[in-house]
Formats: sequence, C-alpha cells, structure tokens
Amino acid sequence: MESKDQLATLFEEIAEIHEFLGENVFKIRAFRNAARTLENFQGPLSMILENPPQGFGKGLLAKTEEFLRTGKVEEFETLSPNFPSSLREVFKIPGLGSKKIRILHDVLKVSSVADLEKACLENKVAEIKGFGDKSQRMILAGIEQIKQYSGRFLFSTASKVAEEVLSKLSKKFPGISFSLAGSLRRKMETVKDADILAISDSSTEIMETFAKFSETSKVLSQGESKTSIIHNSGIQIDLRVIPTTACATGTLHFTGSKEFNTKLRSLAKNQGKRLNEYGLWKEEKSSVFSNEDEVLRELGLSFIPPELREDLGEVEEALKGKTFQLVEEKDLKGLLHMHSNWSDGEESILSMANAAMKQGFEWIGITDHSEFSRIANGMEPERARNQHKEIEELNKNFRNFRIFKGVECDILPNGNLDYPPELLSKYDFVIISAHSKTSDTEKMTERLQCALENPFSDIWGHPTNRLLLEREPYPMDIDKLLDVCLKKKTILEINAHPKRLDLDWRMIRKIANLGHLFSIGCDAHDTDELSAYKFGIGIARKGGLTKEQIINCLSADEFLAKIKARKQFSAKEIGLHQNETKKH
Ligand SMILES: [Zn+2]
Ligand SMILES: [Zn+2]
Repeated sequence: MESKDQLATLFEEIAEIHEFLGENVFKIRAFRNAARTLENFQGPLSMILENPPQGFGKGLLAKTEEFLRTGKVEEFETLSPNFPSSLREVFKIPGLGSKKIRILHDVLKVSSVADLEKACLENKVAEIKGFGDKSQRMILAGIEQIKQYSGRFLFSTASKVAEEVLSKLSKKFPGISFSLAGSLRRKMETVKDADILAISDSSTEIMETFAKFSETSKVLSQGESKTSIIHNSGIQIDLRVIPTTACATGTLHFTGSKEFNTKLRSLAKNQGKRLNEYGLWKEEKSSVFSNEDEVLRELGLSFIPPELREDLGEVEEALKGKTFQLVEEKDLKGLLHMHSNWSDGEESILSMANAAMKQGFEWIGITDHSEFSRIANGMEPERARNQHKEIEELNKNFRNFRIFKGVECDILPNGNLDYPPELLSKYDFVIISAHSKTSDTEKMTERLQCALENPFSDIWGHPTNRLLLEREPYPMDIDKLLDVCLKKKTILEINAHPKRLDLDWRMIRKIANLGHLFSIGCDAHDTDELSAYKFGIGIARKGGLTKEQIINCLSADEFLAKIKARKQFSAKEIGLHQNETKKH
C-alpha cells in the first residue's frame, strides 16, 4: 500500500473511533474529508505539506508531517486501545450507527460481528431499550449480507490487478501466451478470485517467478500446473500452466461456469465422447484443437462468447446453430450519463466533450442532477436554462461532434419528476433516477411506475439503485416495472459505474428478446470515469445484447430521432387517460 492510502486509512479509522466514542461531529467530519481528499490526491504525500489542499488545516498538516517522519500518527496510537479492531466490521452492518454500536458494546460487551450475531440469536438485542424485535431482525439480515459480500471484489478492482500481473508475466516471458480466464473473462460483476492461464510445456520457471513477484503477499500453494497466491490487494490469483496440446480445452474449461462445464461434459458424453481440461476424447484419443471454436464445433455447437458461458440457455441455442452477434466496444458512437461541474462532476462540459472526442466518440449526453439532489448540487431551473445556453454555444464550435442536453432528473417521493413539463421539454433527453426509497415494495413500485409512465421519461437510470457489495436493490416489483417500460418504450439504462452495473445482467438476459431498448450510461463524474462504458459493454454482452438494442450505437441524428419518436409514442399512449390521472 502506498503511504498516501495508509494515511487515508488511518484518518478514516480515527474518525470511526471518535464516532464510536461519541465525540464532536465536526472533528469526525474533518478526518473523513481528509481521508477522501488523500484518496483522490494526485502526487506524492509530501506535496500536501507544500501545497495544502482545501480542508487541510494546521492539525491535519501536523499529523501528515508526523506520519511522513515516523510512519505513525500519535492520536491513533492513543485511541486504538479503546477500540478493538474486530469492532470495525460491526460498523459495516447497514443501518447500524455508532450510537447503537456503543450501546451494544456497553450493555452486551459486543466487540465483533460474531458477538453480535450470538447476542441476536439469544434474543438479547431485542430486550435492550430502543432496539426491539424488528431491529434485531434487521441486524441479523445485515450480518447475513456482510457474510455474503466478504471475500468478493468488484470486477473493476480485480481486473485491474489481474491485468497488471498478466502484463508483468508477459514481459518476463515474451514467447508465452498469458490470458485471463474464469469469472473475470466472463465479466462477472463481482469475483472471488482472478484466474490467469499460461500456455506452455514447461512451468517451473513461470511458477517461481510468479510466486516471487513483489506484489505477492502470500503463497497459498505452488505446484507444476497451478500456483495460488494472495496479491497485496487481498485478491487471490490462481495461475495455471496448460500444455500446448490442451490449450483449447484448457482455456474452455477454466473459463466456463461450473454449470456450463457440466452441461458441455454431458453433451460430450451423449455423443460417446469425454471432455475435460486436457482434451475431447473419443476412445482414449483426443484430436489437437488450436482454439475453443474448434472444440465447440466438434461438439456440434456454434461459437459461444465467453461472457455467455453460464448455462442459461446459450448451449441449447448454440446447438441450434445460433450465431451470437454481441455488441462490441467499437460499435459505440456516443456516451451517455455524465456529470459536469454544473452539479457534482469535477470538470467542465467542454473537458468532458474533448475527452470523449479524443476517444473517437461522435456525441455525448450531459446529464447533471436536477434540483432535488441537493447534496449533489442539483440545478434549480434557472441554472438548468443557463446550462442549456452554454451547451448551445459549445455546439456552434464543433464540426463533427455534438453535445446533447440531458438531465438526471430525480423521481420525487410521490412519483412526479423533479422538473415541470415546460423545462423537461427543453431537454434533448431525460434520464429519470430514484435516489431515495421507501421500505414498502408496493409503494415503491407505484412511485416508479408513475414516473416511468411520464412521457418525458426517456431513460430509466440505474433502475434498482443497488451498490455492489454495499447495498441491495430497492424493494420493488421489477418484472411489473419492466413491463411498463416495454409498453411505454422507456429505455433501460445499463449503468456502467463499476459499483453499480445496474440493470443486473441476469435480468437483461431474461428480457433480451422482448423488444426493450437499452442505453449504456457511464455515470462519470470526471473524464477518467468516461472509460466506464467498457464495463457497460461487458454487462451488455453478458446480457446477450446486440448493437441494435443499444442506443449508444446510433449516430447523433439517429439518437435524436429515436428519442423524439419515443416521446411522441409515449405521449399518445397515455393521452387517453392523462386527464384522469393528473400527475402534475
Ligand atoms: Zn444517480
Ligand atoms: Zn448519475
């Protein structure tokens, strides 16, 4: 870990302990903000002393200087004996704040998640004043959630680590082909470990080099064909060396999900063959295949892209000879869903446009927050109109590029949209998003349905509002709402932010052939985050989508025409009963 990250973690821990001890909120906030600032700070830690960023007062600077000099922060050393490290895990339980944790600690001596679970199961938490049955049940549910999340990593985190290791291996062994396999190659949204394959007939040197990498913090096992290590990021990486004669069947085997591999093996068996990582055998003899396509063809299947290999119907389709034409990165012409410094983004609209242009895109849709999202600096109508003027001015200077006026409009608690129709009609397109929920499934469904039926609602942003490994989807009847979208031609977003990847690919796969349209939304807050569209493509492919189903693949004119047609259709659709529902 870099020292900047170490200091950020220390500040975060100090904030947590102060919070637990019930101290001044401003002090807590100062440490938290400092931790955030450090995480985003470009440049070495010593630069903070020379040129203190906003919020770094005397006290924090002194601690930074102390840390640079001694590697420690005295305040943390003094505080930490009062705070067992196992208690940190308890803070991760959703809905459990420091005040309640303090009470649990004082009354029941809870100092770990295990303690708390035991206390709940013995019904002791429900008996504490201010807790009760309901909160005991919620705590237990939260503990379950934590258990599920622990040991998993976001695709973005794991793939970055794995790509780095892979390129290091490729540099050391230029003649050998290395590739990603397993859940990373299948583009799963979260993964347990990273699989790397090497095709080579000798493995000793590769394994030794890999185990001795400076990033390796622990070697779990080292063998001829497989070595497992824990990378210093905490991610387990398995490196497998496959002999050249088995390169195709090995790659196939170590990519497919367990269910997919089982399906292929039984398919082979039915044909009187035997399939495993070493070959596809008939009477103890295996042909030599040079790639996966050849193995699949030998089994009577068309090529199945790695992302689809989950045994969710793709094998049956491939048996019928289906050619899977999944969307590719090069098909994308425009980027959608991004925030500029008009709301909570970091950069100007022009910077975002230039960055997209540099990457070869023809158009972007700027979507800053509407007024209701105050913490995200949402725009009141007056500012929104000024933003439109800026975009119109900018567009005058482009020849082969266009910025569309969009908005990420909040869905209000009553299901109305945050802006009145007069303002919404000034936008080229509107993304609608809910950023708050009710705990009642029926009410939430009703609220979202009301918003989705509004003719101005072009795209439904991050539909379930889940955060991977942090927050579950909103309670709602998603099937019913997807039906509404189909009827009203509301476009479904695949929010490509690595923490969201929302809509879930399983859902996409289920509805892929029903006629929905999709958009890939970067949800970028700076130019770097624009590259999130790549994660979106991964999910779209995993959902089985073609370029015809994704509006980012349209040219600027086609996009605009598509949105216009959608609005007209939707307005006509609801025109019949608009008067009786009077939404505004
Ligand atoms: Zn949002
Ligand atoms: Zn957003």
